[in-house]
Amino acid sequence: MIRLDNITLTFKDGDTRITAVDHVSLTAHPGTVTGITGPSGSGKSSLLAVAATLITPDSGQVLIDDFDATTLNPAEASDLRRDKIGIVFQQPNLIPSLTALEQLEVMNELGARHSRSKRAEVSARAAELIDAVGLSEHGDKRPHQLSGGQRQRVNIARALMNDPSLLLVDEPTSALDQERGASIIDLILHLTDELNTSTLLVTHDLVHLPRMHAVVHMVDGRLTEQPAVVPA
Ligand code: ADP
Ligand code: MG
Repeated sequence: MIRLDNITLTFKDGDTRITAVDHVSLTAHPGTVTGITGPSGSGKSSLLAVAATLITPDSGQVLIDDFDATTLNPAEASDLRRDKIGIVFQQPNLIPSLTALEQLEVMNELGARHSRSKRAEVSARAAELIDAVGLSEHGDKRPHQLSGGQRQRVNIARALMNDPSLLLVDEPTSALDQERGASIIDLILHLTDELNTSTLLVTHDLVHLPRMHAVVHMVDGRLTEQPAVVPA
């Protein structure tokens, strides 16, 4: 579970400060997807970065499985991310020279040396996730051999390698057409259910919102009470 409690985040802007997130509170439970929408510049990515423990807010608490992440130093926050948080950014950022399976396996190489049995476990987990995102036929392909939608699937699978309790996804469909975008949203809904993650999903695409368990709208850093009208 994640609970953001009265989060405010400002950035320095010349002599003044911009309030990117303004007293925001939000709770997301395991097995649910909370959609976050709002105009460009309204603070959606900033809020995700706070939830991801990548930025410490000016004030407020970030409770991840009842533990306040804002009290952690950078090294501790990095450990917490490795244990509990999966992050999917807008652009896949895959490594060009690695196959889809290797993109996942390399996650567990970072920071630790592993025994042969651990390696086998990592390979098995990577294969399972590549299968779960519908790419079992494509595990040996490199990014340039995959479509945009397929690369985004690898990106999502990679974020799940650490079996996170919290999944944070920022505009995963922005580079995709409507149909491929919809199937990425389907995948995130399905994986959230299957893996019981507490998922925050930023999207500007209002079409997908009715399918989520909860939806919040951001305007000027604040959560607005009334959902925006979804065009028919
Ligand atoms: P969104 O994701 O909704 O488009 P952002 O969270 O990226 O919005 O941005 C919210 C506000 O914070 C904007 O005014 C943006 O310019 C500002 N902002 C975001 N990141 C930074 C940063 N690293 N430094 C300064 N200002 C930033
Ligand atoms: Mg953004």
